[in-house]
Amino acid sequence: MSKVIQSHWWSALFVLFFPLLIMYAYSDFIRSSELNARLGWVLLIGGVAYLFRHTVLQKLLLGVLFLFVLSGSLDILYAVTFGGVFTSASFEAMALTDPSESLEFLLAYVSIENVLLLLFYWLVAYFSLKRILFKAPERRREKVFAALGILMILASIQQIHQRGRTFDVIPGFTGVAIDYSSGHQSIDIDIQARQALYDSKPFTAEMKASDPQTYVIVLGESVNRNHLSLYGYTRETSPHLDKLQSELVVFKDVVSPFAQTRPSLSVALTEVDTQNKMSVQQAISLLGGAKKAGFKTWWISNQQPLRRPTSAMAALADVGHFISHDFYGVEVNRYDGYLLPSVQKAIEDDAPHKVIFVHLMGSHLQYRNRYPPEQAVFKGAEGVQAYTDNLSRSELAYINSYDDSVRYTDSVLGEILSQLQTLDEVAALSFFADHGEEVFDSKDFKGHGPDGVTRHMVEIPFVFWRNNAYQTTFAETDQQLQKNAEQPMMLDDYFHFGLCFMQINSDLLQSQRALCSDQYEPKPRMIYGKNYDKELR
Ligand SMILES: [Zn+2]
Repeated sequence: MSKVIQSHWWSALFVLFFPLLIMYAYSDFIRSSELNARLGWVLLIGGVAYLFRHTVLQKLLLGVLFLFVLSGSLDILYAVTFGGVFTSASFEAMALTDPSESLEFLLAYVSIENVLLLLFYWLVAYFSLKRILFKAPERRREKVFAALGILMILASIQQIHQRGRTFDVIPGFTGVAIDYSSGHQSIDIDIQARQALYDSKPFTAEMKASDPQTYVIVLGESVNRNHLSLYGYTRETSPHLDKLQSELVVFKDVVSPFAQTRPSLSVALTEVDTQNKMSVQQAISLLGGAKKAGFKTWWISNQQPLRRPTSAMAALADVGHFISHDFYGVEVNRYDGYLLPSVQKAIEDDAPHKVIFVHLMGSHLQYRNRYPPEQAVFKGAEGVQAYTDNLSRSELAYINSYDDSVRYTDSVLGEILSQLQTLDEVAALSFFADHGEEVFDSKDFKGHGPDGVTRHMVEIPFVFWRNNAYQTTFAETDQQLQKNAEQPMMLDDYFHFGLCFMQINSDLLQSQRALCSDQYEPKPRMIYGKNYDKELR
């Protein structure tokens, strides 16, 4: 028995896996690499321990385990306190808090549960590390493990050095911390480059009219328009938009050129399109265009603060607010509704000319985490349109929670629109999603991505609301918008649509690319090398 307790395998297993157990128990989300990374380290430490005959090497190994104890303690603390795991967004939130605030914050979260779990972890770790007996590999099995340990060292060096996969190799807090600091450096470069480009690139941007104007651009996330009642879905998933239909222009045929956030928003929100081969780094953003024209700009977001291409655009805004910071980076219970007070504040701001970007979490990844549970409405299979009539229980549950998340996005839009309706001055709102989502619509799959792209991954809602003042002040544009509602468009031309509907004159504006212009010309819509109209729809 004492041999078992003294075996270094148990120490390594306990030190690495107890925090993971706590994460499974308390957190809604765990990095996919977490389990493999921890197993890998147990094999590595367990294996090489047979070969470390010198006391210096043995101390080194104990030191590594001790570091894992420290890192694991933070994982436990975070999981129990926030019901989440460390992400780079948590680091970003902490980096923005001043040290005294952080300490106060930590103390506010000290609980008996926390203290007891940590004490247990430390005590067991301390005694098991103290009693480790290092022994040479005798049996064949032990020799195999020793060789495996060496292999693991080589594999992790290869993964980290050649492939830059620190995040996947080192588990928990430490892996995220290393990933955060290197990611932050490259995002910082991005931010500086976008500011420098804005300052130095010669381009013109002017408002056509001096009337006070407020524009809100809502960026949805993973919304398949075929799941909106506004677009004919049998379930009532967009009651707010449905009710406002007379004030909306609903564009029927807009697709995203990509089924992923980053490439899609890169081309939607900058001069880059799928044909001009510009690099995003050299392309002025729509926010930059509006800012240069004299609008006060906002970036209010429920998405991760360190993300391309949006971080750099947000940094250029006059006012930025990532609600992730208010939640210490945790995604649990962080619903898009929390954006509303900031949006309201922006709408009520005294500046006469305002452009407010609102970036939603929408229907991202884990649908059921995107709306407050009490707002769920869809339970049975009624109204579901899927790839098969024999959906499994879990497939149906995904579809129901997806529809609930879409319905929640609709309620957030309804709130923003009612805030805008209080304005007498010119006001408009544009809503689209970065891409769609396949939710067992046309095949046995849920998600989005370049492999096996389906029409549901790119068919997005594209809605324009404007008040009476907009319709009378910019009557010509308004009529053109209505005329173009059935026109095919791809989201990479949004930059031009944006400049056009916000009445910004610019030498960057190409009228034939702008869906609100009478010169608009549809182009072939190529999505990952496939012609959407011929091969996907
Ligand atoms: Zn996305």
